[in-house]
Amino acid sequence: MFSKNLLKLEPYTPGEQPQDKSYIKLNTNENPYPPSPKVENLLKGIDINRLNLYPDPNSTELVNRIADNYRVTPDNVFVGNGSDEILSLAFYSFFDKNNGSVLFPNFTYSFYPVYCSFYSLNYKEIALNEDFSIDFSKFAKEKKYSGIIFPNPNAPTGKVELKSDIKKLLKSMRSDRVLILDEAYVDFCDESSVDLIDEFENLLIIKTFSKSRSLAGARVGYALGDPKLIKALTTAKNSFNSYTVNYISQLMGIEAIKDVLYFNDCVKKIKDTREFTIKELKLLGWDIIPSGANFIFAKHPKLSGEKIYTMLKEKGILVRFFDKEILNQRVRISIGKQEDMEKFISIVKDF
Ligand SMILES: *Cc1c(COP(=O)(O)O)cnc(C)c1O
Repeated sequence: MFSKNLLKLEPYTPGEQPQDKSYIKLNTNENPYPPSPKVENLLKGIDINRLNLYPDPNSTELVNRIADNYRVTPDNVFVGNGSDEILSLAFYSFFDKNNGSVLFPNFTYSFYPVYCSFYSLNYKEIALNEDFSIDFSKFAKEKKYSGIIFPNPNAPTGKVELKSDIKKLLKSMRSDRVLILDEAYVDFCDESSVDLIDEFENLLIIKTFSKSRSLAGARVGYALGDPKLIKALTTAKNSFNSYTVNYISQLMGIEAIKDVLYFNDCVKKIKDTREFTIKELKLLGWDIIPSGANFIFAKHPKLSGEKIYTMLKEKGILVRFFDKEILNQRVRISIGKQEDMEKFISIVKDF
């Protein structure tokens, strides 16, 4: 009854989304602030009579807005149902088993190996440096590889890699191998690599409305890259489902990306609260990896990650714990509103 492909799958485990009691949710890197008020106005005025029709399969208006925002042309832009969907299409489109393994860091977004199993791709994990930075020289040494992917900032560490180092890696790569840069969190640090897409036609950058634009519930992501890469994603998408992004989500994305002031204000608040949280935890003796994301990866001076996770959950605060090698010493704490983080700090003071 079940296909061989299905039986070998080990699916991704998303962070808890408890539906019963209300927690302070610091576990899935959602934005603690609501989306732009422009999104709210839009939803109040939605034309129900439009919902009997299929949405624009190409998300044309949203693509145009995104292109304007990054000063690229619409044929550099692909829109999908969350960036997870675009990642999946990209693994399908650009990585080929016959070319060797897909390369990614040993500690990174745990969905990457899942896509590899979904598409029967081999992968090779490249060890991070001791300070959790990515060792690009190890990537450059690999002679046979199907492609490379990593997030910048990395997850769950929050560590930022310099654009100059990414450029060096691209220069060392074969031009017929794609580098996918997952910039889900890049708005919380200073350096996006989007301008490199003109120079490197094998660079695909994937971004999302879920984190910095407070629209995780709307499922909108996008990719920026050379028109050839965008066209490949479109071919893959239209061989799977032409209408991935629903009518209302397309409109929400348009409103969110128009509201630059609100976006800048939210991002600034989160960065300020991140620095506050890091400062307070350091005073309590925690070790924090420098973070350019809307989360921090933090280690208590004595207690294990699992212990901290359990103690916080009892107090009504959810964080994320990863039961894997050195990661299990730490917890990943998403940055909430300032008052949430003050409460969090006052609770961990008692640990
Ligand atoms: C959250 C996240 C995504 C997925 O974002 P969606 O657009 O909500 O699917 C992709 N990559 C990384 C590294 C993430 O943390």
